[in-house]
Amino acid sequence: MKGTVHYEERDGIALLSIDNPPVNPLSTGVRAGLCDGVERALGDDNIKAIVVTGMHRAFIAGADISEFGGPPTDGPDLGETLADMEASTKPIIAAINGTAFGGGLEVALCCDYRIASPSAPVGLPEVKLGLLPGAGGTQRLPRLIGAEAAVQAIISGDPIMAPDALALGIVDRIASGDIVEEGIAYAEEIIAAGSATRKIRNIEEKIAGDRGNDELFDRIENNLNKSHRGQFAPVQILECIRAAVNAEDFDAGMAVEQKCFAACLSHPQREALIHIFFAERAANKIPDLPKDVPLLEVTRGSIIGAGTMGGGIAMCFANAGIPVRIHDNDPENLARGMKVIEGNYARTVSKGRLSQGEMDNRLSLIIPTENFDDLGDGDVIIEAVYENLELKKEIFSRLDGIVKEGTILATNTSGLDVDAIAAVTSRPDQVCGLHFFSPANVMPLLEVVRGKESSPVVLGTAMALGKRLGKVSVMAGNCPGFIGNRMIGGYSRQASMMILEGASPAQIDKVIYDFGLAMGPFAMADMVGLDLGWRARKMMGGSNEATARIPDELCELGRYGQKNGKGYYRYEEGDRTPLSDPEANEVIARVAGELGFSRQDFSDDEILKRCIYPLVNIGAKLLEEGYALRAGDIDTVYVNGYGFPTYVGGPMWFADTQGLDSVLADIERFFEETGDDVWRPSELLKRLVSEGRNFASVDTASVDTA
Ligand code: NAD
Repeated sequence: MKGTVHYEERDGIALLSIDNPPVNPLSTGVRAGLCDGVERALGDDNIKAIVVTGMHRAFIAGADISEFGGPPTDGPDLGETLADMEASTKPIIAAINGTAFGGGLEVALCCDYRIASPSAPVGLPEVKLGLLPGAGGTQRLPRLIGAEAAVQAIISGDPIMAPDALALGIVDRIASGDIVEEGIAYAEEIIAAGSATRKIRNIEEKIAGDRGNDELFDRIENNLNKSHRGQFAPVQILECIRAAVNAEDFDAGMAVEQKCFAACLSHPQREALIHIFFAERAANKIPDLPKDVPLLEVTRGSIIGAGTMGGGIAMCFANAGIPVRIHDNDPENLARGMKVIEGNYARTVSKGRLSQGEMDNRLSLIIPTENFDDLGDGDVIIEAVYENLELKKEIFSRLDGIVKEGTILATNTSGLDVDAIAAVTSRPDQVCGLHFFSPANVMPLLEVVRGKESSPVVLGTAMALGKRLGKVSVMAGNCPGFIGNRMIGGYSRQASMMILEGASPAQIDKVIYDFGLAMGPFAMADMVGLDLGWRARKMMGGSNEATARIPDELCELGRYGQKNGKGYYRYEEGDRTPLSDPEANEVIARVAGELGFSRQDFSDDEILKRCIYPLVNIGAKLLEEGYALRAGDIDTVYVNGYGFPTYVGGPMWFADTQGLDSVLADIERFFEETGDDVWRPSELLKRLVSEGRNFASVDTASVDTA
């Protein structure tokens, strides 16, 4: 049995210490140990109260994920363990020494009193894996802190630090010294006052006022439909909390929780969320990087270019406490970049999410410089100038003259050839791509791009740096667009083709929105600005691509997108809602006619496939060519960098859930109908179908990259 609980008697108090290093998950041995400890304490007349605490750094960090999906385990399950604790006639005090998450907090909620270390976080994060707290958490927490606060805590799943937990009423006290000593002292006080137990199941005050308050729950539900659109578990959580308030008694509420828990457990969103949870962790493992590769110490950074990306990247460093210099060859842009950074922090302060002191501290870590040579003391230098290969090469060729031995030279290019950039330096092994996503201080993804000569030390350090900057890092090979941008091209192009073929931007955008992205490709294009691509194409002498004709003509008519109130859609002053616009629709119909497209009706299903399956086919090519290590890496990129709904699990997982044989059949049909190269079926996809396998079964070890 994994894990144990030590039993010790201290002057009439039983001390149960959970011992399952490092974070005391609720493994079989812990559950059994809690039951045995409570039984022994109840059977001993000398014992007047029980204190439960955790050894090591956690109280109980949650369930034991190694037991997930395995055969039923021996001994009591969590429900039985909690029932034993709650039935105790002697008061139980939870001395929460560290993290109490999920089942860990549910254990504490079955105790009569809770005292916590000031640094202990508590929380019910089950929603993040598509589940809900299924051991009474949805029933007990509202009884302790009220329905609305419980909805907020359980649906966000976020950790709550002990002082906030005290303010909410989740814990009764904060320890000022040794948590075990103070837990025992608390128990002695309770004994002295008559040994009263206090079962949360019997507490009514906090919920009584909301009984029958439909307005409250309707309002919460409305908000939820916006903030957690399309997500299954949050709706179930709300139903449970409604039951906690309105059901006949505690046990009737528990029955609703059990029903909703089972519904979550068998829902495909849970599997998708668990897939992403593990995929994000697996992405850190690079098979051919030795585990013991020595990492370079990064004590300061340097950034070239103080535009959108450079500024955001500088904030990432400052947020992680790493001093960083930022340089721009245009003093005005440097000053503007610093103003933007300051404005971003000031907004966070005004929202109450950062103190003024912390803002000042972070700003002091970002040092602007007009002198390129000042950048030489950075341990990592990140170039974020315009997307122009010649310009980037020119900059890298100058780096040799200023940098220290061992400095990592990184480019934030969105998709240019990292090897071509590396080749102009005398140290191509020190070069890699560090592809941040916009806004860099917000978006969680970092693609670490591996050049053909990037050294293991550089790659290992880059992955570790990503983690330090709070990013989910994914290793990508050096191909045009790397993982994310190479794939997105196929998506955008198919959307653009479909409006020539007869679908409307509004129909396509709605399909994508309903699928779970924040917006569809045309609303997105209007937001980014149609003029960016138009100007870039003009600089290159114009484009003959059919898909460029509509945005080019819209721009010729002065329709640049949201910025001037008209693009694919029109916008009312001060409102970002896209509205259908006859002028734009006329352009689309006319261009389609001039290019000889015959217009047809599209079903929503066809639109979805035309948009998402290019991602799948190109993703499969990335795998077969070895530019992505695993299908899970691609999913991680899409969920963290492109707003792909986590609960769908990413494009490759989505394809697996559709059945790869049916995905391939559609891709083959599209290829036959259009001849478009994006639909040329990936060899890997064909092979997986013929072998009856799915993407989840693919990693580099099984991909034939020859
Ligand atoms: P930007 O136009 O906002 O900023 C570029 C900055 O580089 C400007 O301030 C400019 O003055 C400065 N610059 C130009 N030449 C310079 C030189 N020789 N020395 C020093 N500074 C110089 O551009 P951006 O959007 O921040 O993009 C920067 C890079 O990041 C590009 O390679 C782009 O492809 C990539 N990228 C952009 C995004 C995005 O969404 N904006 C996302 C990911 C990656």
